[in-house]
Amino acid sequence: MYSITGLTKTYETRDRGTIQALAGIDVEIDDGELVSIQGPTGGGKSTLLQMLGALDQPTDGTIKAFDHDLAQLGHAELTEIRAREIGFVFQHYNLIATLSATENVEAAILPTKAEKVTAAQRRELALEALDQVGLADRADHRPSELSGGQQQRVAIARALVKRPSVLLADEPTGNLDEHTRDEIWTVVEGLWRTQGLTVVVVTHDSALARRTPRRLRIADGRLTELD
Ligand code: ADP
Ligand code: MG
Repeated sequence: MYSITGLTKTYETRDRGTIQALAGIDVEIDDGELVSIQGPTGGGKSTLLQMLGALDQPTDGTIKAFDHDLAQLGHAELTEIRAREIGFVFQHYNLIATLSATENVEAAILPTKAEKVTAAQRRELALEALDQVGLADRADHRPSELSGGQQQRVAIARALVKRPSVLLADEPTGNLDEHTRDEIWTVVEGLWRTQGLTVVVVTHDSALARRTPRRLRIADGRLTELD
């Protein structure tokens, strides 16, 4: 899925000078893996996830994925890969407050595909995704009428509805209490098992990370394997 060599990202900042967020990372991630990434704040976790998600370009190195080297692609090509292949889940659910759960999920159905998809089909796709995260019975609720865990499940459904090959999650349980964390994690594990997804999850929570078959750690922009 990903073959990464010498991945480097530096940021030029006004107040802190040059920051090396990623300091030469080499890693292979296979199709269908479930990988967690741990490490201290500022270590480079989100930066790496952005590179995996074709959200940003590295300063140096290669990211072979989806039959391309993402490091060599332009903005338009990255946008297309992102739209087709990548589902994102963040710590903050980023749902639209005025839309129902179903409408939030529908909004993520690709504009390119939307032309061919009728309104009824869009709704059906959205309901199917909500069903996959166990939220079919809350389809018409707005975010304010849902618990934190339920909102995150809507966000996961939104990431899934376009049937991506990769699910990238940045601290998806960071805002949730222990019980709900477990629940969300179980949803993610279940999707990984049943959907053939490659899943990369950034987490602060070692207890959750221990449930993943492969664990990585990033500190000071350097990556190590944990076991
Ligand atoms: P983590 O997710 O592990 O907390 P990040 O990848 O967000 O770490 O950040 C790694 C380093 O890069 C930090 O020092 C952070 O301040 C810096 N950084 C991240 N994004 C930017 C940016 N857009 N501009 C400047 N510095 C950034
Ligand atoms: Mg981060």
